[in-house]
Amino acid sequence: MTRIKDIVNCIEHIAPLAYQENYDNAGLVIGDLSVPVTGVLICLDITEPVLQEAKAKNCNLIIAHHPIIFRPINQLTGKNNAERCITYAIKQDIALYTLHTNLDNVAQGVNRQMAQTLGLENLSILLPKPGILSQLTTFVPQASIDPVLKALHAAGAGRLGNYTHCNFVTTGMGSFQPTSTANPHLGTAHQPEKVEEGRIEVVFPAHLETQVLRALHATHPYEEVAYYIHQLKNTDARVGAGMVGEFSQTLSSQAFLEYLKAKMRLIFIRHTAPIARPIKRVAVCGGSGSFLIQEAILKQADALVTADVKYHDFFKAEGQILIVDIGHYESEVGTKVLIHTLLSEKFASIVFLECETVTNPIYYL
Ligand SMILES: [Zn+2]
Repeated sequence: MTRIKDIVNCIEHIAPLAYQENYDNAGLVIGDLSVPVTGVLICLDITEPVLQEAKAKNCNLIIAHHPIIFRPINQLTGKNNAERCITYAIKQDIALYTLHTNLDNVAQGVNRQMAQTLGLENLSILLPKPGILSQLTTFVPQASIDPVLKALHAAGAGRLGNYTHCNFVTTGMGSFQPTSTANPHLGTAHQPEKVEEGRIEVVFPAHLETQVLRALHATHPYEEVAYYIHQLKNTDARVGAGMVGEFSQTLSSQAFLEYLKAKMRLIFIRHTAPIARPIKRVAVCGGSGSFLIQEAILKQADALVTADVKYHDFFKAEGQILIVDIGHYESEVGTKVLIHTLLSEKFASIVFLECETVTNPIYYL
């Protein structure tokens, strides 16, 4: 039997909640983790028709890209879409889960889906997220170095880019003197002790600190474990905003726009003036990506494909880049396929459906 918590654990392993932006509200918003899953409906936005579709298709879990609750709600009187949806979901026992900027920010997320739809290769994160890595330094007697390292790695420490089990160990002399109330692994009370120890240095994702420390304490033999944790300025190349990649061949600005329109099935594009050089290197960001214009120029992208670009932001192209606004919904609609693919391969016995209700609130004439 698959419970909501099984799916939530799987999602949060792929896209940890710690990677969401600070304004966001990703995670389980309504629902009980222990409830068995009857079916899962995947959508971009939660609306009443989406909830009705979930009920009709016997799905008691909705996974949405956009949060239904962004700010605290003081009343539930059904006066707007969010309040009516929350009430309906609770009455009908439908759980609501949001997978938002945490999915934007991981390498296998929203932007990879966009980049792959466009056929871009050699993909990398456009703007790596700061403040997500920490370093543990600890001192371990020689015989315990390997077991401690093994436990730290199992807890998620020691990953650098495409490499796992990364760490550095130097040896030196550790000194201590137990007090009368100590229960030392080595040495006796009031006697100075010297032990050959290894100094282990290992990097880990900051949100795993509790489990990394638990692993350290579980395997380190000392009563008092000496360790330091530092927050690092380093970024993780696999976590951050936007993505940049390259076409195998170049295209003129006009040919690129037509290609984009066909590949993303667009009826409407807003863009800046064509640029003189051909388009080969393209940055993408699902949803509102104007904040990446400077970074895209810095990373020498010829074009930035995103949405919600304001009038004054288009001026920032300055002839250096082709800025293309393809629409918010259009840029993210592939996210339904992405979530479906990521989860259906892990839960073969559960029905995952991409919602058929079109939730785009924007119409074109
Ligand atoms: Zn969005």
